[in-house]
Amino acid sequence: MSGAADEGGVHLYSTISKRKEPLVPDAEGTVGIYVCGPTVYGRIHIGNARPFVVFSVLKRFLERRGVRVRLVSNLTDVNDKIYTAAAAEGVPSAELARRYSDAYIADTDRLGLGRPDVEPRVTESVPGIIALIEELMQRGLAYAAGGDVYYRVERFPGYGRLSGRRLEDMVSGEPATGAAKESHLDFALWKGRKPDEDTWWESPWGPGRPGWHIECSAMAEEALGRGFQVHGGGIDLIFPHHENEIAQSEGAHGGCMAQIWMHNEMLELGDEKMSKSLGNIAPLADVLDRWPAEVVIAYFLTSHYRSKLPFSDERLGEARAVVERLTNALKAIDRAMATGGEGHDADLTRAIVDGRREFFRALDDDFGTPEAFAALFEMVRGINRATTAGEASPAQLREARHELLDLLDVLGLAGIDPGPAAEVPAEVLSLLDDRERARAARDFAGADALRDRIRALGYEVTDGPGGPQATPIAPEAGSA
Ligand SMILES: [Zn+2]
Repeated sequence: MSGAADEGGVHLYSTISKRKEPLVPDAEGTVGIYVCGPTVYGRIHIGNARPFVVFSVLKRFLERRGVRVRLVSNLTDVNDKIYTAAAAEGVPSAELARRYSDAYIADTDRLGLGRPDVEPRVTESVPGIIALIEELMQRGLAYAAGGDVYYRVERFPGYGRLSGRRLEDMVSGEPATGAAKESHLDFALWKGRKPDEDTWWESPWGPGRPGWHIECSAMAEEALGRGFQVHGGGIDLIFPHHENEIAQSEGAHGGCMAQIWMHNEMLELGDEKMSKSLGNIAPLADVLDRWPAEVVIAYFLTSHYRSKLPFSDERLGEARAVVERLTNALKAIDRAMATGGEGHDADLTRAIVDGRREFFRALDDDFGTPEAFAALFEMVRGINRATTAGEASPAQLREARHELLDLLDVLGLAGIDPGPAAEVPAEVLSLLDDRERARAARDFAGADALRDRIRALGYEVTDGPGGPQATPIAPEAGSA
């Protein structure tokens, strides 16, 4: 481990400096975080959910550290992919974008991590985008050509600083739409309208729409001002997207766009075949149909955000085991509280205090979530030992329960709390487990049959925050 965390405060690895940097809030004590969001032309897949989970939980953690956080994540609701998907479905592009924006919100809401503070949409941000392009033109960093506007890359001295690329090694990231480009390095800020494009705006350069990169520069500035704290996104966005954001924002205003550039690694898929059909086989919504939200969150967070993460049922099964271990510790406390010792278990207190300290130390050090889980497991070992020993008083156990749940809440996992032990017969609980296994194996007919058997025993299956539960079927009104 690096010594960074020992110097106190939160440190995050920055792609631009290639080291862990102290996170310094602004003068008002706020940390602004901008994360590039999805292009809404289909349901988002499990890979898109990684930045959503990482940055939502980072926000929760920082708030526990006493910082005010303003998390901003955009929706790109106009671009080529959207025109193409809309044409294929025979609907207006604005309608398709609206449908998948709604789906994105609905799918990510199911994770139960709350929403970013601001979710700007490109279609609602065009005046600010045009103003930023005009500023770049006044500074000689942009030029109009053939209905498009391009960024003059060679005029910006810092180009390549984030990605470590040298100008002479670069090939253009943009297809050569503009024969009028001065250099193959130049990228589009404004794209002139093509005949079949049905979402467009008037501009000083004629009708058209913003290029992808300028959107984020303008929306980040509008929501967070200039020189905010953290810019995040997937590692695949470093070049050209984030390199171009820096060129635009710093080219227009000087200064530095963001203090820390934070990038999450990609998901790894089993084989090439799977990778090609990722969009079809692993939409986030499907994964959440098969696994509780807490299991999906634990799947992401038991790996470090800067590590490649294999996506497989096996890995999700491992995450479920993690969640079960934590849930079982809470259940063990509940059982022990009922039988209750009368003493004080000093080792339990030590396990709780040490666990909490290590948990936050891990997160302080570049958001070390795997080490934070290790700290939780140390705590769980202490709890399991104490509940077996039976010495701890109900008051001490209640305190231990509260502490564990408090840390789980930082990670967005408080929903695994089974709550006060319900009086559900063992036979029903066992059928409930069978049904979960059937669902995980996509045996939906089998799962339905098990639900009917549970119902026959007088219990309804409901989806509680901690996963499916069996609750007694209330007598029908008037039947008494
Ligand atoms: Zn972006």
